[in-house]
Amino acid sequence: MTARLLDGKRLAEQIREEIRQQVERFYQTTGQRPGLAAVLVGDNPASQIYVRNKRRACEQVGMVSWLHHLPGETTEAQLLALVRQLNDDPVVHGILVQLPLPRHIREEKILEAVAPNKDIDGFGPENLGRLAAGRPRFVPCTPLGVQVLLRRHDIAIAGRHVVILGRSTIVGKPLALLLLHKGPDADATVTVCHSRTQNLAAMTRQADILVAAMGQPRFVRADMIKPGAVIVDVGINRLPDGTLVGDVDHAAVAGIASAITPVPGGVGPMTVAMLLHNTLRAAQLQAGLLSAPE
Ligand code: NDP
Repeated sequence: MTARLLDGKRLAEQIREEIRQQVERFYQTTGQRPGLAAVLVGDNPASQIYVRNKRRACEQVGMVSWLHHLPGETTEAQLLALVRQLNDDPVVHGILVQLPLPRHIREEKILEAVAPNKDIDGFGPENLGRLAAGRPRFVPCTPLGVQVLLRRHDIAIAGRHVVILGRSTIVGKPLALLLLHKGPDADATVTVCHSRTQNLAAMTRQADILVAAMGQPRFVRADMIKPGAVIVDVGINRLPDGTLVGDVDHAAVAGIASAITPVPGGVGPMTVAMLLHNTLRAAQLQAGLLSAPE
């Protein structure tokens, strides 16, 4: 069997075009452009690239974006003050605080301070709580990207066993909550594994859909999957020679799986597309064009 390639790059381009048209309609209706404020603290090169790509993606669909690039020695109080100022600014619809923050700043304090209706990453306690309650407002972008990728490739989720490798608050845990919901593109039976899970391969071999989000290069080998499984590789790892690889041994696993995402070009572009989706949604909610979730 040769797995079907789940091309996230091409799908993300389609979704971005759909969003561009919706942004245009939003502008015709309100005279405003959805606006994203990105906050970057310090000089982490990967973070700088991520923020640059996200801002460029916003501008390509007709949104406005602002970069607040603060020095690495910025205090927690100064960052909180900036977040509050952005919370109060009516042209800012979405606020993105690029993680990781420098160690002297408590990430949770900053994420808690972002106004819930501008929390387009969905990392604040209110939005995570809503997701857990099955009434999401903003779903974190990578989990949402995984769900949309599966839906738009007509891969059924309901009733299937999804095994997720990784329990982080930005990927594994919210994805588990999302796929566990009652309703369309969900209703999965979900198992979440982590570094303390025993006999991991026995878990992964049960997966109809296996999602790897661990940050361990080529960890998932061919003998760890069930023939015909769908494989979603969230991992992005740079090898010493500069090559980017996922958490899955792609070449070997593609011979056994029924479908698999590439790295790069799989989940990564979907994450950026979902950031645009959430920013547009934030603008629509704030303009009263969508009814706010109860
Ligand atoms: P974290 O480091 O926050 O979490 C990694 C998770 O994997 C943890 O739950 C950890 O367990 C688990 N884990 C690590 N090693 C093992 C192991 N050997 N066996 C079992 N479980 C293990 O990472 P993130 O969730 O932030 O990111 C995961 C990967 O996804 C990274 O490669 C990251 O670059 C990538 N990523 C990709 C995105 C995209 O858009 N494509 C977006 C976000 C992340 P424990 O909790 O016990 O430590």
